Amino acid sequence: MPNIADLQSNCRHPERTAYITDAAYLSLLLHGRRSWPEEACGLLIRRGASDGCPAAADAAIALRNAHPAPGRAFAFDPAEWVETFCRIQADGHTVVGWYHTHPRTAPVPSLQDAAGAAGLSGLTCWILSLRRPESPELRAYRVTAGRFDPLMVAQISV
Ligand SMILES: [Zn+2]
Repeated sequence: MPNIADLQSNCRHPERTAYITDAAYLSLLLHGRRSWPEEACGLLIRRGASDGCPAAADAAIALRNAHPAPGRAFAFDPAEWVETFCRIQADGHTVVGWYHTHPRTAPVPSLQDAAGAAGLSGLTCWILSLRRPESPELRAYRVTAGRFDPLMVAQISV
């Protein structure tokens, strides 16, 4: 397994691969399972400044799902989102992307996800499907002007 420092210095395809550490993945997974059958949502961050591998996430930050029907959609609480985003930046970390879970469906962006991604260009969208509880499926997409381009997901140990 490569470590994250190697990836930073040798990240040849940062635009095609999204990296996540075991620890970040585990905390995302636990958040998703804890929230099931509702959708869980949050942010994936990279601690320290981003340097050449923009989609490498090494920590997950859980946020509240403020959607009125949290079993089939998610929405960030606007005040919590802004406060958290600012705190992450003030701490010198980088927001890599946002995540949410699909408790019963495939890890494919819904129309609602596409609508909600307006204004989040340049970040990665991570979707964890828990439709098969024993086989969680994590996918990542680069979001550009409302378009979702699938990325390879590489899980790494550090
Ligand atoms: Zn979704």
